[in-house]
Amino acid sequence: MPNHLFDALFARHQGRSEPFLLLPGGGAIGYAEFLAETSRYAHALTDLGLSPGDRLAVQLEKSPHMLAVYVACLRAGVIFLPLNTAYTPHEASYFLENSGARLMLCDGARQADLKPISARLGARLMALNADGTGDFADHARDRSDGFENVGRGPDDLAAFLYTSGTTGRSKGAMLSHENLLSNAQALTELWQFTAEDVLLHALPIFHTHGLFVATHIALLAGAPMIFLPKFDADEVIDWMPRATSMMGVPTFYTRLLANPRFDRNAAAHMRLFVSGSAPLLEETHLAFEARTGHRILERYGMTETNMNTSNPVAGERRAGTVGLPLPGVELRIMDPETGQEVAPGEIGVIEVRGPNVFSGYWQMPEKTREELREDGFFITGDLGRMAADGYVTIVGRAKDLIITGGFNVYPKEVEQCLDALPGVAESAVIGVPHPDFGEGVVAIVVLTRDATLDPATLMSTAAAQLAAFKRPKRVMVRESLPRNSMGKVQKAALRERYADLFDA
Ligand code: AMP
Repeated sequence: MPNHLFDALFARHQGRSEPFLLLPGGGAIGYAEFLAETSRYAHALTDLGLSPGDRLAVQLEKSPHMLAVYVACLRAGVIFLPLNTAYTPHEASYFLENSGARLMLCDGARQADLKPISARLGARLMALNADGTGDFADHARDRSDGFENVGRGPDDLAAFLYTSGTTGRSKGAMLSHENLLSNAQALTELWQFTAEDVLLHALPIFHTHGLFVATHIALLAGAPMIFLPKFDADEVIDWMPRATSMMGVPTFYTRLLANPRFDRNAAAHMRLFVSGSAPLLEETHLAFEARTGHRILERYGMTETNMNTSNPVAGERRAGTVGLPLPGVELRIMDPETGQEVAPGEIGVIEVRGPNVFSGYWQMPEKTREELREDGFFITGDLGRMAADGYVTIVGRAKDLIITGGFNVYPKEVEQCLDALPGVAESAVIGVPHPDFGEGVVAIVVLTRDATLDPATLMSTAAAQLAAFKRPKRVMVRESLPRNSMGKVQKAALRERYADLFDA
């Protein structure tokens, strides 16, 4: 039966023995072989009692088998719900309960810890290991290599991706076949992917970036993927001569730059480096170009909306910006106080509308109403500005905005000032409770290897460039910034850690 997303991704790959996934040991998996596995898994899901619209939670190490489970879900009409492998069983129990998943797949090593939770919630728990073993694999082994797909239309749901939930409870973003397909089609064209490409895939596949952006584009273009279990700079450098493109988070690029083996020669075969999921420092962009001759293409997106903006392949890739709204995506910058659009170049909250935008949060109608306007615009919670020529710059999350003594301080502006000082590798600027000012500006700074700056010097140097209310009242020097698996600095954790800094 017609199945909107699956048909678009795989119609041209049926029966093809050419490699779809190139694997670290030197092996490869062809399209037909991969599709046969998705058939067996789709039969297994159906036989285990999952019906279209049911949820399947997976907490699996990245592997071709995990990807095959995703595609099996599309085929069987089951909603795929991937979970970050870093989540503890206690955290995982929230997602299982909230989603009402009937079945959970986990690595064998996690099965004993998750068993009491799944038993309490009445969900079945089965194992699927990264090497393709486990009781779910046993169950699927003798099934047919052909599967009659469940019919699915554009508005049917394909996946629930839970937001990373840095404040409050994580919410399940309901993503439809058309949300995912429209975005993948726009990006494939914009980024000029073709069957000549080979995509170096070192991202996790529990997140929108690695699961949807990378995988869907590769399939639509017919480009094979070098499918690595995780990012390792040396391994990525070893594979680069066989690749044409890579999608990464900013930490991929800083780690490559920190590796002396990474030079112009190592990147000579590459056509395109894409960065997203967290801000790429302007400095990284420039250092990367100086080292390799490539300008990283930065784009901006989120779980709820897929990708919203991108710098162009042909045209100016402007460092420090996330480029222009994608074709078909409307983007506006709103003044949260007046509810009106701001003038070009002014900062406000970014809102987006388009076929990429999700339909709401699973069983959270109030949260959905708070963030998704009736006219279809989604309030992203990101602060940004749009230049008169359409280029968008993100200045941070609205919830990270610091209000000190009644003045607004955008952390990014202070961070850019600190990052530009010799001896500073990177910084994070936060607001914490202050008895006089409401919030006090605090900078957490990481120094470059040999630097010996002290906080007082940093404060006085920054003071020369920043208005008094923007200057950090305290500077803390740390070895590194806390980051999540997508490379985002965890400001909520920093705010908690330094909450008592200005206590009397
Ligand atoms: P997630 O839902 O985990 O993908 O996180 C989405 C958030 O990551 C966005 O709302 C932004 O705050 C941030 N983000 C994604 N891409 C970029 C980027 N290129 N520059 C700055 N922030 C980004």
